[in-house]
Order: sequence, then C-alpha cells, then structure tokens
Amino acid sequence: MLLPNSTIGIVGGGQLGRMSAVAAARLGFRTHILSDIMDAPAAQVASGITVGSYHDQSILKQFAEQVDVITFEFENINIEGIEYLATVRPVHPSSNVLKISQDRFLEKDFLNQHDIPTTQWISVFQLEDGINAAEKLGFPFILKTTRLGYDGKGQAVIRTDKEFKKAFKNLNPHPLIAEKKVNFYKEISVMVVQNEHDELQTFDVTENRHKNGILDLSIAPARITSTLQNKAKEIAVKIAQALKLVGILGVEMFIDDQDNILVNEIAPRPHNSGHWTMNACPFDQFEMHIRAVTNLPLPPIARHSDAIMKNLIGPQTLEYWPKILENGRMIGHLYGKKEAKPGRKMGHVNINFPYNGLPGEFGIKAALSFL
Ligand code: ADP
Ligand code: MG
Repeated sequence: MLLPNSTIGIVGGGQLGRMSAVAAARLGFRTHILSDIMDAPAAQVASGITVGSYHDQSILKQFAEQVDVITFEFENINIEGIEYLATVRPVHPSSNVLKISQDRFLEKDFLNQHDIPTTQWISVFQLEDGINAAEKLGFPFILKTTRLGYDGKGQAVIRTDKEFKKAFKNLNPHPLIAEKKVNFYKEISVMVVQNEHDELQTFDVTENRHKNGILDLSIAPARITSTLQNKAKEIAVKIAQALKLVGILGVEMFIDDQDNILVNEIAPRPHNSGHWTMNACPFDQFEMHIRAVTNLPLPPIARHSDAIMKNLIGPQTLEYWPKILENGRMIGHLYGKKEAKPGRKMGHVNINFPYNGLPGEFGIKAALSFL
C-alpha cells in the first residue's frame, strides 16, 4: 500500500490525468505529470510536471525518479518508453496490457483467444486484402487503422470497392483492420478495476451514444435487461482477470439485434463513459483507479443515483457554461483547456436522478434542454 504523501507519476496531461490527479489529492497523494506541452489540463492541478518528449529517455528518467509509482492516462505512448519506465519504477497497468489495447489486431486476437466475442474482422496489409474483406464481411464494413485512432478518427465506412481504395490510401498509419459493421441497437461500456491483491470491482453498465464518432451522451445504468447487465459485467471481469489488470479498464461493447454482446475495444485507463461516476457514486472511476495503482482497498461500487453525462465539445462550451452554472441540476466539470477547437472535449456535465429513477427519452432531453 502506498503511503499518504507519496507521489504518483501520470504519463499524459489531458483531462483524464487531471481528474485522476484531483482524486489522488483527496487521498493525500501528490501527482507528477509527464506531458509534452506546458500548462496541460492535468499539470494545472498537480504538484509537479516534467515537460518533454515521451520518446526522450532522459526526460523519462527525470520523470520516473521523482515519483513512487507510475500510471498513464492515454494509450498512445510508445511501448518502449513504458517498458523503460518500468525498469525505474512500478508501472500500472502493465506495459503488456497497454501493448494489447494499443493495437486493434492484438486486442481482437487476445479477446477471441479468451472466447470473448467481437465482430468479425480481417487484417488489411495491402490493396488486394480489400477483396477478402468484402467477401468475408460484406459491404458495408468498417476500415480502421490498427493504432492511434480515437474519437472515431482513423476509420471509414466502406460501401464499395472504390471507397475501399480511397480509404486504404487515406487512412494512416498502416496496417489496417476491416471489421464487419455491427447492427447494434445499443452501445454500452463497463468500467472494471482491480488491484495487486486481486480485489476487483465493476461499475454499473453504461449506455453510450456517439455523435460524429465522439461520445456525446452516457446514461447509467444502461437500460437493458438484468441478464444483459450481468453478462456485460462478466465479460469485463473475464478480460480484467485474463490481463492480470492493475488499475482501471474501460470495455466498450455493442449489443446486436440478436442480443449478442460483442466487445468493440478496451482502454486501460479511466474512460469518458465513466465520468457519470464522479457524482453518482461515493468512489468514482478516478478514485478507484488511483486506489488500484497504489494498492489501496477497493470498496464495492455503491451507486447512489442514476445519472446522465453529456460531453461539452468545441467552441459552444463557453457559451453554455454560464447557463450550466445557473442550472441547479447540472454538475459541470471543465478541463482547463485554453483553446476551444471544434471537436475538442472541453468538459462535461453530470445530472443525477433518483436511484432507479431515470426518466424516459423526453425527460432526458428536457434535462439537457439548452445543450
Ligand atoms: P475509437 O477509438 O475512435 O473510440 P471505436 O472503434 O470505438 O474507435 O469506434 C468509434 C465508434 O464507431 C464506436 O463507438 C461505434 O459507434 C462505431 N463503430 C466502430 N466500429 C464499429 C463496428 N464494427 N460496427 C458498427 N459500429 C462501429
Ligand atoms: Mg471507442
């Protein structure tokens, strides 16, 4: 168990690091951020920062030597860097977990090897593989980069040979992966957290809606049968155990029209779809993550409210913010980003409802009226 006043190193300076740092502070820890930019959202609330390239070993060394344990808040760090950090200080989750979740091939292969269903997929290395993809998956299918994708970037829906050729050229870096398009009626996610003593907890299943490939709205708990809820949680637990996870992991899943649960992707860090936990659970995803990587006990998730979470994206955020502050029901969270570029996640709002008291679609819309 890490003692109070110890320092947690967080690789990455974004909002997930920021909210993890705040949770760490509540538990009496210090945080030290490694970021490639000054004034990163996480650095604004941390007690120390190292600014420099994630690829520069002298920067990594300087960072690691100032902390007691290391975690990360974004996935696209080079594995060699994380492996190097692990020679200096303990890193949670492990570089192996990171490696699998960084690469859609390794990820799907890992899941399928553990009998966890995903959509059908094939690897695409060269133009000719497009023919195989169309034969095996049928149009439309989804072509994605295997690495570095986020918020729907690095992927395209393919309906014709011509679209395939164009996307093959435009999507980078290669190799690519072709996935059968899932006819889902719901997207859900489960946050699962485990510490070194194999204590494990799952948060309640979240229902997610995307706009332009970016998460727009989360609803918790997901409005699906309890059988599906349990199944989704079982899948998340199985993945966490198979990975020997230490830390938190977000598991994104589809429910298709046959009620099959298919895993889409996994993210070994706090997840946007878990932000509702900040106001509807006594111990939110960030605190649970910090507890896990510092090997503190993991209390059961006692969700006390139902909740919706709406992302605040792009320039409109500043216009909405005064209204959010005036609205007695919205709990606003801003990430401290200076420039509100289109598509950039600037913050989110949580709205709580009584336990097992989620309103219908109309009520959800009304609660979010001006957003
Ligand atoms: P990202 O890393 O950008 O989150 P995802 O693979 O999660 O990438 O894709 C983003 C969104 O695109 C998903 O949440 C889902 O709405 C849609 N999507 C991705 N893959 C598929 C698929 N195989 N079938 C149907 N929809 C998909
Ligand atoms: Mg995703």
